[in-house]
Amino acid sequence: CRASLEHRDTSHRKNDLSVHGVVETVVGVLGGGQLGRMLCQAASQMGIKVNVLDPMENCPASALSHYHMVGSYDDSATVEEFAKRCDVVTVEIEHVDVATLVKLERQGINCQPKASTIRIIQDKYLQKVHFSSHAIPLPEFMQIDDPETAKRAGNLFGYPLMIKSKRLAYDGRGNAVAKSEEEISSAVKALGGYDRGLYVEQWAPFVKELAVIVARGQDDSILCYPVVETIHRENICHIVKAPANVPWNIRKLATDVAHKAVSSLEGAGVFAVELFLTKEDQILLNEVAPRPHNSGHHSIESCFTSQYEQHLRAVVGLQLGDPSMKTPAAIMYNILGEDEGEPGFLLAHQLIGRALGISGATVHWYDKPEMRRHRKMGHITIVGHSVGIVEARLKSMLGGEISDGQ
Ligand code: ATP
Ligand code: MG
Ligand code: MG
Repeated sequence: CRASLEHRDTSHRKNDLSVHGVVETVVGVLGGGQLGRMLCQAASQMGIKVNVLDPMENCPASALSHYHMVGSYDDSATVEEFAKRCDVVTVEIEHVDVATLVKLERQGINCQPKASTIRIIQDKYLQKVHFSSHAIPLPEFMQIDDPETAKRAGNLFGYPLMIKSKRLAYDGRGNAVAKSEEEISSAVKALGGYDRGLYVEQWAPFVKELAVIVARGQDDSILCYPVVETIHRENICHIVKAPANVPWNIRKLATDVAHKAVSSLEGAGVFAVELFLTKEDQILLNEVAPRPHNSGHHSIESCFTSQYEQHLRAVVGLQLGDPSMKTPAAIMYNILGEDEGEPGFLLAHQLIGRALGISGATVHWYDKPEMRRHRKMGHITIVGHSVGIVEARLKSMLGGEISDGQ
């Protein structure tokens, strides 16, 4: 990877793209987790090189990247240094240093999606303000600064009350539920106190959680993946069913809301739109991720163009690919850490052993150096001719039980 260690003169790149295709294009990814790893896998097929910036020496993307810079994506000087070695900079995590992305854009460096989008999305409260100003339906929300405003929010929205930290949230870490006014103080404490920057959301009494991956090209073309159902276990995505088993009018409404949400943001790439379906058939937006997403893992095996290839196509300025499914049904099962250390590895490996014997199943193991409870260690996608078939195969893989946390 000697070439990537040199500072790159990117002025000729546009021409390279049109004359020689994408070979030799270097995509810089801020973050080197499993999403970065799967971006590297898709890139290798296309002759695209992926440089990764991640503080962890043995992060999941490291071994598969063209070049891994060990450093923080939250540190200005490091991000600037990293960007010099890339033709385009993108993200696999939204918790990156936005001020630096703005600076890079001013210097003419191609950042996709745009810094303005990352800024809105990395602050969940700002995200809610943004989407509500674009008339996207979402649960009522309100910033809380002290016990008085929190109590007022409880009176307004009722209980249970969802308290969320504005920033640095993932896998539900950053959410706490207060079932009554008395529980507000312990929930706030669990999130690190009011100083951390908190807001509340009205409880969304959803019957299902849905998600739509939306891709946007640099020509502003937009394509939506099929609506999927996501099933969470303790706030962590656990199972994804593709397509979602909901009537066509719900699929259309979910797709329309997702399309509208992404249209309000700037830049190219794939975006994941998480939605709630209520029993009154309302669709409410939960949150948007400006990158490939857990709800789109299934697309590697089940769609004509995976979300990872799509993201790369979008950020390097190629035309988008067909997002539709090439198999009638798919189900994705996250391998979450069940235990710490060796006992956890043993359980995961037993599950993988069973998956290897299931027709239509593909195992993805992220090769994370440490096993921790609730940590996403890998996933298994099962494709088949019908929803019934993939569900039956999952059940047999899990030894008879589908633990969907419901
Ligand atoms: P992610 O890993 O998706 O980024 P996160 O930490 O950002 O997760 P959220 O998506 O805000 O967390 O919430 C996690 C889960 O908590 C949701 O998928 C949903 O199951 C539940 N949840 C979130 N907000 C609400 C709400 N207002 N009402 C009811 N349930 C909610
Ligand atoms: Mg989130
Ligand atoms: Mg979420």
